[in-house]
Amino acid sequence: MAQEKSCVECGGREHFSKEVVPPAELLPVGPLHGAKYRIVVCGACGFTRWFVAERFLPLVKEKFEAEQ
Ligand SMILES: [Zn+2]
Repeated sequence: MAQEKSCVECGGREHFSKEVVPPAELLPVGPLHGAKYRIVVCGACGFTRWFVAERFLPLVKEKFEAEQ
């Protein structure tokens, strides 16, 4: 999973993750309202990646358009 990968910014391998409610300005409003995100933060440089929490992925697949 994502935590095992090296940080794309600094190459660090120590990451921390937490499920959060995204700030309103970052949330794609509408279909994903109420969805939580899992953030993964590099322990060395703080680079942060955002993932839609896995249990909300079916909603994404239902409501979003698939990229070709
Ligand atoms: Zn890093």
